[in-house]
Amino acid sequence: MTIYKMKESQVIIECSYCKAKVAGTILGKHESKGSIDDLPFKVVLLECPVCKNALVSGQTLYEVATDKSEWGKPTRLWPSPEKHISGNIPVLVRNSLEEAEKCYSCGAYDACAVMCGRALESICSVQGIKNKILAGGLKELLDKQVIDKRIYEWGQELRTHRNIGAHATDEHISKEDAKDLLDFVNAICDYIFVLTNKFKKFMERKEKLKK
Ligand SMILES: [Zn+2]
Repeated sequence: MTIYKMKESQVIIECSYCKAKVAGTILGKHESKGSIDDLPFKVVLLECPVCKNALVSGQTLYEVATDKSEWGKPTRLWPSPEKHISGNIPVLVRNSLEEAEKCYSCGAYDACAVMCGRALESICSVQGIKNKILAGGLKELLDKQVIDKRIYEWGQELRTHRNIGAHATDEHISKEDAKDLLDFVNAICDYIFVLTNKFKKFMERKEKLKK
């Protein structure tokens, strides 16, 4: 995870009007305890120092070690919100998702596919998968019922496109395919880390009511 150090009065963010990273001046901020993903979240109103337009950023506070938390990367909430990556997704996986988004937004579609593949490898790693080869790792995730048959097929496509992106050949990843790969990898992460967790909590509440 990238930790952004900045002046207390500034937040580094991509200005959607200037299409560039700027050090936005903080006009106001609000911190809430657990509004998003049950983690502390900070919303900041900013002014772009270049075009003077208003921008709104959001940041999640992550636990980076026992008794140590740090604010994660600021994402633009307004205008044109950037994709919010859930705080329930482990740091190792989130890093690759953030990198994949970055590659896509600057038109590096081969690199985007490679980062989507790296996100899958990170999923295998945090799930304690023994097989070091991605193809075998995906099969193990399927066998352990962490993913179902459909997600497994998406994973296989991600893996083959990761290979196209990674190898120096004439074959390249198109913008359209890179966008789809990003959507697939985000859906896989939501399925494993967000929805599965949500369903577990939902069932726990149901069980509690029964008692
Ligand atoms: Zn601007």
